Amino acid sequence: MPGSGSSLRNALVVKPGTRVRLDRIDPGDTHGYTKDKAEPIVSGDLDRLRALQERMWAEGKHRLLIVLQGIDTAGKGGTIEHVMGAFNPQGCRVHAFKVPSAEELAHDYLWRVHPRVPGKGEISIFDRSHYEQVMVVRVMSLEPKARWLQHYDEINAFERLLVDDGTTILKFFLLIDNDEQRRRLQSRIDDPDKRWKFRMGDLDTRKHWGDYLAAFEDALTKCSTDVAPWYVVPANHKWFRNLAVARIVAETLEDFHSKFPPPVEPIPPGLKVE
Ligand code: AMP
Ligand code: MG
Repeated sequence: MPGSGSSLRNALVVKPGTRVRLDRIDPGDTHGYTKDKAEPIVSGDLDRLRALQERMWAEGKHRLLIVLQGIDTAGKGGTIEHVMGAFNPQGCRVHAFKVPSAEELAHDYLWRVHPRVPGKGEISIFDRSHYEQVMVVRVMSLEPKARWLQHYDEINAFERLLVDDGTTILKFFLLIDNDEQRRRLQSRIDDPDKRWKFRMGDLDTRKHWGDYLAAFEDALTKCSTDVAPWYVVPANHKWFRNLAVARIVAETLEDFHSKFPPPVEPIPPGLKVE
């Protein structure tokens, strides 16, 4: 039986304090759903997301930060397109974190992140994030180990600050397997419409697969907290990835119980516009 939204949330969350073993999670898992059954569920959830976000934006009270991480081709962009496409662009911002600029590198790594967090009523979506500082920076030794080891606590403290100040944080790690990445990279090479997404460097990154997996395991283990949990989303099947993310985001928005605000001034009963 397919799980309800909340059982999916429970199934995918990284319980704080537990050691994540990614080799024990099946990237092709669909938690009992089939593609046919998922389609109407996802489309219902997207309608729900649209309505919930409209209230959230109108109310201007809650703030939601959605972090997407995953290896190249894991589907960060696809998730944004399919799931977050439900949102009204007013009140929703997407930010993709790239190789830091010279100015960004001249500052601490959270300097470029903090201005992008959501304000009241807003949803911010991060395509990559401050977690790159314990991913690529660690794997490619862009900083000494003694330095990047400090980042886990710093990131937890930063997220704690955001949450204490009223922000809700959802972090999704999109998990695909090595074979699926090979197929997706190959299609980026073969399909002229996808070539723009391909970099020769993606092949070098792929050679560090094991190192990235170890880095992800550590980040998920050390930085899944009660206030800002990580969810590991099996993402070999794009339809399941969309279903899981849409469900969890929709449930989170429902928890806000946002209401349309009252009129700013009293409206006389029966008022007609001439
Ligand atoms: P893409 O998401 O494919 O557009 O690629 C963005 C690139 O930026 C990836 O190769 C990331 O590893 C890289 N990147 C993002 N943040 C950082 C960072 N803090 N330090 C170094 N590289 C980064
Ligand atoms: Mg890329």
